[in-house]
Amino acid sequence: MQCFFISRFVFNNSLCQTGSLRYFHYSRFVLQSTRNHQLVDKIKVLKQNLIKVLGKDGISDSETICRQHSRDEGVERNDHIVDLVVWPKSTEECSIIASICYEKKVPMIPFGTGTGLESGVCGVHGGVSVDMSKMNKIVDFNPEDFDVTVQPGVTRKGLNHFLKDHGLWFPVDPGADASLCGMTATSASGTNAVRYGTMRENVLNTEIVLADGRVFWTAGKNRRSKKSSAGFNLTNLFVGSEGSLGFITKTTLKIYGIPEMMASAVCAFPTVKAAVDMCVQVLQSNIPIARIELMDDVAMEMCNNHNKLNYEVAPTLFLEFHGTEESVKSQAKFAAEIADYNGGSQFHWAYETEERNRLWKARHDIYWTVLQSNPGCRAIVTDVCVPITCLPDLIAQTKSDIQKSGIIGPCLGHVGDGNFHSFLVFNPSEPEELKKAEQLASRLTKRALDLNGTCTGEHGIGIGKMAYLEKEIGPVGLEMMKSIKRTFDPHWLMNPGKIFSSE
Ligand SMILES: Cc1cc2nc3c(=O)[nH]c(=O)nc-3n(C[C@H](O)[C@H](O)[C@H](O)COP(=O)(O)OP(=O)(O)OC[C@H]3O[C@@H](n4cnc5c(N)ncnc54)[C@H](O)[C@@H]3O)c2cc1C
Repeated sequence: MQCFFISRFVFNNSLCQTGSLRYFHYSRFVLQSTRNHQLVDKIKVLKQNLIKVLGKDGISDSETICRQHSRDEGVERNDHIVDLVVWPKSTEECSIIASICYEKKVPMIPFGTGTGLESGVCGVHGGVSVDMSKMNKIVDFNPEDFDVTVQPGVTRKGLNHFLKDHGLWFPVDPGADASLCGMTATSASGTNAVRYGTMRENVLNTEIVLADGRVFWTAGKNRRSKKSSAGFNLTNLFVGSEGSLGFITKTTLKIYGIPEMMASAVCAFPTVKAAVDMCVQVLQSNIPIARIELMDDVAMEMCNNHNKLNYEVAPTLFLEFHGTEESVKSQAKFAAEIADYNGGSQFHWAYETEERNRLWKARHDIYWTVLQSNPGCRAIVTDVCVPITCLPDLIAQTKSDIQKSGIIGPCLGHVGDGNFHSFLVFNPSEPEELKKAEQLASRLTKRALDLNGTCTGEHGIGIGKMAYLEKEIGPVGLEMMKSIKRTFDPHWLMNPGKIFSSE
């Protein structure tokens, strides 16, 4: 097997970029109040046992480090702090950590890069945060078969940096530079999903360490065929499992050739409905569009001001076409005609890599743009997904609800998939604002469920969406999920208190 080293700290700037936001809430040390004494005693013994395996550098119980590992980029919903942080360097070490925790019945919480938005990494029942960042190798690379296998510390930007020299890329692109195993765990997606799919369509196999330390591959050891009818699809069971079934210690991914030509365009519309209608017609016409992203007028204004851009302040689509020169030109011509039919403006084109990157950076950075445009504020990031024809109504109702509430709430979405986000801005020192934002988010989620959609298109359930899961999948579905959890993790030690409660 070939080994390639990737340093997360070279490519993943999301931790440093957001460090000040992530920790600014904490002013007081209340760790002990969340602990039961039995657990405190177990942790003391556990620490000594783990030091023997990992050395003193591989473990920390410092208050700051525990707090850093107990929250993600989402809105702080709790003060559930882990007791210990450990850094395994291999699957074997991860397996030993699991068996030691299993023996003492101590909760384990996998930690990727902490860019999740639903409090997935906090320690609801305390326990050990297992930071996977030191397992950062590309362990198998088969360019001609278009697959790659990576350890959990490799991030999507790190992987793409490596693949670029081989004329290849991995297209799933959440706005943050997340770890690929974290992305597997949350079933992440991004702007390219309309053409290349989400993590669900792009993960071929995963290596798993179970709660009791056993190691297995969900599709069989080292298997990497593009399809399989061999029994249940355990791989897809772990995609979106949010650390609740086991540690993902390797993920095997589909990769793609970099298209000969990529062209991006921006197009403004008189209404959100006109923009979404254009999107539906593009998909109905079978134009193989690579990206089609909506930003509303509020988001466009912030984007212009922050990035010194000059786009029209109106509902706007960001589009991208991939293919040969000839196919890109014909796709673009057809799409421009559809835009014109729906009252869209002329396309503003970006052909050069640098210009395209600037355009998509403005789109990807919109979360930071919104926060920086509202100093001292935070935002609830909503994440519903509905059948695409329901999107215009959902967005129109949500925008009217936001306007009535007085909350600032730019709306944007991966419209090609019917996935839509609003950033509900609130001042953390104004409890009434937070309450209003939470109520808005709750109404939006219920509206999406009433439209046969889902409460989360890509961020996962974590703690934030637990209240909606039963409504979405029904009581029997929920019970089936709990039975699966019990099969993999009978003592409920893997990331307990997330997705659903143990009762
Ligand atoms: C600015 C911004 C933009 C974003 N945009 C998008 C977007 O467009 N699309 C999208 O899908 N998401 C988006 N996200 C959310 C986030 O980036 C994704 O949820 C990402 O997949 C989380 O990966 P992570 O490595 O940071 O995981 P973490 O936040 O560390 O963990 C998330 C969950 O996965 C579990 N987990 C992590 N690693 C493992 C592992 N190795 N094994 C088992 N379980 C594990 C954790 O226990 C936790 O439950 C965005 C976040 C930010 C801050």
